[in-house]
Amino acid sequence: MARSKPAPANSLVKVFTPKRPQSAIAPLIREALSDLGEDPNREGLARTPERVEKALRFLTSGYETDVQKVVNGALFEVCYDEMVIVKDIEFFSLCEHHLLPFFGKMHVAYIPNGHVIGLSKIPRIVDVFARRLQIQERLTQQVAESIKAMIDPHGVGVICEARHFCMMMRGVEKQHSGAVTSAMLGAFRHRKETRDEFLSLVSRKTADI
Ligand SMILES: [Zn+2]
Repeated sequence: MARSKPAPANSLVKVFTPKRPQSAIAPLIREALSDLGEDPNREGLARTPERVEKALRFLTSGYETDVQKVVNGALFEVCYDEMVIVKDIEFFSLCEHHLLPFFGKMHVAYIPNGHVIGLSKIPRIVDVFARRLQIQERLTQQVAESIKAMIDPHGVGVICEARHFCMMMRGVEKQHSGAVTSAMLGAFRHRKETRDEFLSLVSRKTADI
């Protein structure tokens, strides 16, 4: 084996160890497959438990993501005090009651009070909260609250339209039903005109703006 050069005296060597063992969930999935009457050893399923674990860890990675780090200082001072709106943010989440996906679009708006957030960061904030076990109402509220906490705007409005696999695939089988939730803080809660402006901007097609 080739010897690596000794590190310079002033260099820092950091050893990163994984926070958790990577195999805690896979054996449980293997057991679940057996309980479902499957043969977890057949070719197609042989590596499924590991894949499921990896997928679940990714889909819940929002627990370990720091919103401040995601935003990474992209907060800017401005004099602008008109509504900022980011529409049609796609998201995918897992319902905490069935561990089945729910997915849809979120519309986020706020009225700056001296600071704005880089526009591209808003969808990333949505991801931080969507990649957890959620209910739609809480997801909507958390996105609104985190923007409020970050830049203390005059108000925040969030509308979330989603379809739930637990409704679409199970007994209910209402394939076309969707749920809409909203969180209105500050001016969006107190001023009807602000709320109406937000709702009309959201309902307009992007090409019309
Ligand atoms: Zn559900």
